[in-house]
Amino acid sequence: MEGTIEKPRALVIGGSLGGLFAGNLLRDLGWEVDIYERVPDDLASRGAGIGTHRELLAVLAGLGIALEERLGAEVGDRVCLDPEGNTVHRVPWGHIMSGWANVYRPLKDRFPASRYHFGKGFAGFERSSGKIIATFDDGSQANGDLLIGADGLRSGVRAQLYPGLEPAYVGYVAWRALVDEHTLPRELRQRLGNIYWFGLPPGEMIVAYPVPSRDGAPGHRDWNIVWYRPIVGDAALREMCTDAHGRHHGLSIPPPLVRPEVIAALKRDARALLAPLLAELLERSQPFFQAIFDVESPRIALERVCLLGDAAFVARPHVGMGVTKAALDALCLYRSIQIDSENLDAALARYDRLRGEFGRRCVARARRLGAYIEARARPGAGWTDQQTDQRPERLMREVAAALSDIPELGLEI
Ligand SMILES: Cc1cc2nc3c(=O)[nH]c(=O)nc-3n(C[C@H](O)[C@H](O)[C@H](O)COP(=O)(O)OP(=O)(O)OC[C@H]3O[C@@H](n4cnc5c(N)ncnc54)[C@H](O)[C@@H]3O)c2cc1C
Repeated sequence: MEGTIEKPRALVIGGSLGGLFAGNLLRDLGWEVDIYERVPDDLASRGAGIGTHRELLAVLAGLGIALEERLGAEVGDRVCLDPEGNTVHRVPWGHIMSGWANVYRPLKDRFPASRYHFGKGFAGFERSSGKIIATFDDGSQANGDLLIGADGLRSGVRAQLYPGLEPAYVGYVAWRALVDEHTLPRELRQRLGNIYWFGLPPGEMIVAYPVPSRDGAPGHRDWNIVWYRPIVGDAALREMCTDAHGRHHGLSIPPPLVRPEVIAALKRDARALLAPLLAELLERSQPFFQAIFDVESPRIALERVCLLGDAAFVARPHVGMGVTKAALDALCLYRSIQIDSENLDAALARYDRLRGEFGRRCVARARRLGAYIEARARPGAGWTDQQTDQRPERLMREVAAALSDIPELGLEI
């Protein structure tokens, strides 16, 4: 590519964190990059807390971005409570949680606004004379040398590469909520402290931990709650995804449309199954749910089209590293192009090999961590004792562990 008069051009579909990492890094290599995002306006209000893996901070630092620690929330020990509120296990932890917007904002500001196109939904691509032509919902087109699908769980780029490959529902959902700490009574705030709480009812898992607040004010925190619960079968999930007017929304439903009686039942279950501290926190929240899926793309680079982040692989959230994985995918693409600067096909083959292996291992690890929940949803599937191991000692060490503590994921980038 060096020596050519025209700069190589990348079309990035999806302007969330994965797309922004790729866009910024490829521009630093001298590429022309355009990012196309379906949503019509800024995404900063999205997302909750994210763990600050050392590797994520390193990719940001390489882009000249220092994540402001003062905007982080420090989380101390991990503590698991039984339904009576007794501590059943405690492990030292000590991590800084950051906010999704803390990562999005500087990446977005670093990328030229004129090259970031909001309200552009990708509709399809074709290959012509060595170029990739992308078509958008409004009928407009763009062409480039490389198409990067960074368009998330329901990736349209993946769907075109692999027709019929659907995200696989794993039999459980994550109920989620963010509660502004300032809305909680002082006494509850004090009891919550800065602990990363666990509750492990049989075949379920709830975690609750403080994250920087969505208002961005230093020192303000929200409590992030994620409760994994089996919902057996697509039909039951569809029923939960039906709004108060009887309208079905498929396998997901916009948070405000979750039926009040579904939320009331969750809060009732919380009082029966969870420690009073966690039930009280949940009581004061507006929960919504997301179904959990596994996605594995057979290949993530094919003839000048590549996938990264959730478009490539979706691991269940127990590994807690979706954002770090997206950043490392983008870094690997950058390095591969840097190493094979004269041969884009060779660069993409390297990317496919390295990040394909990482993605598959990540999905497998997350599947192992969630197996005991899945086993409740699919009881007859011949689960081994190891798969249904729900001991807090194991889960509290392995859920959202640091990448450096997981040898099987310490792969070349
Ligand atoms: C319950 C739960 C908890 C999680 N917790 C964590 C956590 O603690 N830490 C962590 O690191 N990760 C966590 N994740 C995972 C994390 O959210 C994702 O891995 C991460 O957002 C992936 O980023 P991405 O850029 O690949 O995709 P996304 O953030 O999904 O972005 C895809 C983008 O593509 C756009 N798009 C989609 N279709 C089109 C189209 N046709 N045309 C144009 N644009 C399009 C979308 O609007 C979106 O902006 C969690 C996920 C879940 C479900």
